[in-house]
Amino acid sequence: MLEMFMLGSGSGGNSCVVRNEDTMILIDAGFSGAEIRRRMLKVGLDPDDLEACLITHEHGDHIKGASILSRRHKVPLLMHPATKRAGHRNFCGSERMRHFEMKEVMQLGSLTVTSVPTLHDSASSTGFLVQSGEVSLGYLTDLGSVTEDNLLSMIPADFMVMEANHDRDMLWNGPYPSHLKARVDSRVGHLSNNDSAEFIALLAKLGNLRGVMLAHLSAKNNDPELALSVVRERQEKDIEIILALQDQPSKPILVEKK
Ligand SMILES: [Zn+2]
Ligand SMILES: [Zn+2]
Repeated sequence: MLEMFMLGSGSGGNSCVVRNEDTMILIDAGFSGAEIRRRMLKVGLDPDDLEACLITHEHGDHIKGASILSRRHKVPLLMHPATKRAGHRNFCGSERMRHFEMKEVMQLGSLTVTSVPTLHDSASSTGFLVQSGEVSLGYLTDLGSVTEDNLLSMIPADFMVMEANHDRDMLWNGPYPSHLKARVDSRVGHLSNNDSAEFIALLAKLGNLRGVMLAHLSAKNNDPELALSVVRERQEKDIEIILALQDQPSKPILVEKK
């Protein structure tokens, strides 16, 4: 079995706990160290029990609390070498640090984690597939577009955390300056509701997918109900679709063998 605790997701910070019976990892540390600890304790988890913290990329909403978390709770940080270089201002040198390459299969306690390259405007950007026994959880946020490799990598996923960042009309008619609109909408920006819906439908058709948590929703360029309806309407298969929250942890998700 796998359990997932989304501590919060959006441009204000991203952090997500995944665990099985004996190993617990964090994906991204985009809140302050104190806030990550507070949110973990709120859902009954102890940061001292973390085996590792995986970092997707160097943007502040993913890396903000990584250094303090590593030092205070003796958690090794795992990231691509390019993420470490680009994010060096976030580190003081006394963190526990390990690197992974793209498509590397890592053994973290009894969890198997594969790094999956994503298209985003950072030095390096990674999604993950976390496997425990016969169940898998996929994690893809901060990607301007999906690749065939993304799709194939996520075929085993029973559950996905999947970006649904914006509605394109809301983005282009919204308050962002035009250079930022173009950045978000580009193939290395963020994923629209429609593109997310399409990916989920295809993955559900080809793979094991039974549930999705839509994540990294824009507060200005999206509407939670709209994101839900766009993704739901596109589905041919009956899969559970829920929303990640920004300001508080979501209810834990249990992924079990079919
Ligand atoms: Zn982000
Ligand atoms: Zn980003």
